[in-house]
Amino acid sequence: MPIQILPEHVAAQIAAGEVVERPASVVKELIENALDAQARSIRVEVQGGGRKLIRVSDDGCGIPAEEAPLAFARHATSKLQRVEDLDNIQTLGFRGEALASIASVARVTMLTRHVDAQVGTFLRLEGGHLLEQRAQGTPHGTVVTVEDLFFNTPARLKFLKAEATERRQIESVIMRYAMAYPEVRFSLSQDGRPSFATSGNGSLADVLVETLGLEIVRQLLPVGPMANEKAPIAVYGYTSAPTLHRTTRAYITLFVNGRYIQDASLTYAVAQAYHTLMPEDRYPIAVLMIVMPPSEVDVNVHPTKAEVRFHAPEVVFSAVQRAVRRAVLGASSSIPTLTPAASEPEQPWRALGAVKSAQPALKLTTEDSGRYTQQMPPEAPSIAAPEADWAARPRSLPPMRIVGQLAATYIVAEAPAGMYLIDQHAAHERILYEQYMRDQARRKPIAQRTLQPFSLTLPPETLRLIEAHSEALRALGFEIEPFGANTVRVHAVPAALSKQNPAEAVAEVLKDLEVGKAAGESAFEAQLILRICKAAAVKAGQILSHSEMSELLRQLERCEHPLSCPHGRPTLIHISAAQLAKEFGRA
Ligand code: ADP
Ligand code: MG
Repeated sequence: MPIQILPEHVAAQIAAGEVVERPASVVKELIENALDAQARSIRVEVQGGGRKLIRVSDDGCGIPAEEAPLAFARHATSKLQRVEDLDNIQTLGFRGEALASIASVARVTMLTRHVDAQVGTFLRLEGGHLLEQRAQGTPHGTVVTVEDLFFNTPARLKFLKAEATERRQIESVIMRYAMAYPEVRFSLSQDGRPSFATSGNGSLADVLVETLGLEIVRQLLPVGPMANEKAPIAVYGYTSAPTLHRTTRAYITLFVNGRYIQDASLTYAVAQAYHTLMPEDRYPIAVLMIVMPPSEVDVNVHPTKAEVRFHAPEVVFSAVQRAVRRAVLGASSSIPTLTPAASEPEQPWRALGAVKSAQPALKLTTEDSGRYTQQMPPEAPSIAAPEADWAARPRSLPPMRIVGQLAATYIVAEAPAGMYLIDQHAAHERILYEQYMRDQARRKPIAQRTLQPFSLTLPPETLRLIEAHSEALRALGFEIEPFGANTVRVHAVPAALSKQNPAEAVAEVLKDLEVGKAAGESAFEAQLILRICKAAAVKAGQILSHSEMSELLRQLERCEHPLSCPHGRPTLIHISAAQLAKEFGRA
């Protein structure tokens, strides 16, 4: 075939393929246009998952009759004039492609009246050609109706997913804009049935109740707004308490200057903020607004504008991470309770204590701090006395009285606010982890020489690892040297492990260490620290004496983040006094 320039309508359809992938993309573009036109109310009607009909009505500024046909021309926009304007985009649209693309693959009508015009105008197009334009009365604003999407592009039609899938996609598009613009009223009806609506009262929390549901919103923590003078980036919104998580990142929703974006790195920043507070393979629910100067972000990266490029990505990354981390730590208080609290208490025990007045006060026995005595056989890990200043640290939990041990695994305790079940292993891991991090920060010697060096026979992969990470191992308190073919000799172990049979503990720490997964030295170290704490912690199934349990609780009460183990699993379950009363019909 000779080279030739494609006919206009073929070129248009090819271009349309980039913008209009599916019905939800049409909805997205039309909503963006309505928002750019300063609409206060946007109504979306859909039939047949958007294949049959999509209608978006707004009360925005409208289009003057003489300009209306131009809106459907390619590269026709009122939002951009010069190439420099691209550096300072304040509108959602700017490419002047959407209406042209939509019109080239569907039957489209538009009814619009400009705020300053007496009468509106009606246009009808098919396959990109203007078939009709006439004057028509209408309130100011714009109604765009798109019918028979992809009627002239059978290939596209074939790739559309099931109607239910398209309906869901459309719904999530609208929900996202509703989150980003809580001051705008949105409504969606599908096949004549209302399926989603917001009030436009300006409250993001109210929108989230509509999109995520009340139960989830109750477990969200407010983020920011946190303005940063040096890099003027504000981050605000909501993020879940560490106890609320999902198996995928899909519930992390991000907006930059009112634009929904997909950004793997920022999503990671959000997840990272939960480090050690949430299991590694779980992700929070978050809705975050990032507000920054338009000149700092390039939105002209992709036709759908869902990807953006930051001029200083690391600055945005740390702003997001800091904002979320602050929200999470500020409220690292949400003890998993069987009934979600209506509001997040700022300081858990104060709010919990408030329940007291409603009940007869439970008598609290203040345990005398009595010297810790080791009662466990030496090979079982036990709870060491904390360093001297531990008691001076601020409390993070109410003082609890021990009731007993359950299944040799959980400690049952009470406080005025109700009953607590503590996972002894998870709690001890948390205590050891914080102790370890403090010792490291203070450069306290962590290693403890063993009474007698001992030998360990290890598989060759583990030996290779030990060799490759000898520095990290030494820093963590291990003194290990090669000793014959498959054997090492251990001279010192981290002090945390010295209370028990060191050979077993070291073997447990080094067993099945993975290489590939943990990239880099610091990741290896982090993994090893978690393993040391795990090995040193009392186990599930281990019977604890009363004084051991009380020592454990006393230390947990002064942990910075007492509510999860360093792997992010909960250490504590709380059943409130009110909940107990209710369960027993006393309320
Ligand atoms: P873009 O939004 O990138 O400018 P579009 O093809 O989506 O391109 O729209 C073209 C132009 O039509 C817009 O620049 C705007 O001037 C006008 N327009 C489209 N939809 C509306 C609307 N709902 N209200 C007012 N003006 C609109
Ligand atoms: Mg547009």
